[in-house]
Amino acid sequence: MTRLAICPGSFDPVTYGHLDIIRRGATVFDEVIVAVFNNQSKAPLFSVEERVHLLEVATEDLENVKVDACSGLLMDYAKEQGAQAILRGLRAVSDFEYEMQITSMNRKLNEDIETFFMMTNNQFSFLSSSMVKEVAKYNANVSDLVPEAVEKALATKFRYSLEKS
Ligand code: ADP
Repeated sequence: MTRLAICPGSFDPVTYGHLDIIRRGATVFDEVIVAVFNNQSKAPLFSVEERVHLLEVATEDLENVKVDACSGLLMDYAKEQGAQAILRGLRAVSDFEYEMQITSMNRKLNEDIETFFMMTNNQFSFLSSSMVKEVAKYNANVSDLVPEAVEKALATKFRYSLEKS
């Protein structure tokens, strides 16, 4: 049986923190689908299509990782795909309560699909997409936080040239 995990999130945009979880998850599960959701409560900088594209570029060397755009309920999508697990990353304690809430709701919706958490590498503990966007807006160097394609996409969104940073 193929062990499939869904790694859901907004990925607006993908950071090295996300990639750390995806990469490590791909060594544990046979297949990982990175599911890009349009979170209605967050006003996104990148469209779902742009986010999917940036993730595809960043994971192109990982043969067992696929990227997909999703809408609706995560647990419906996971069941449809035949997944056994949901894979999430945990950073600081502040992530914990939110993750507990979603996980217990998801378990109510489908108790056959388990949620797995992976602790981030320490170097990414305080890294979030919103932080990256906040500083990239002011032309800060984010090359050690996001892959090159994301750095370029941020530069285009905020209309400055990378040479200036
Ligand atoms: P969401 O909107 O669902 O929180 P995100 O794109 O912010 O989606 O995050 C997707 C997943 O990646 C979540 O499980 C989140 O905890 C995890 N994640 C985000 N940033 C990091 C990081 N720096 N290190 C490890 N995991 C992270």
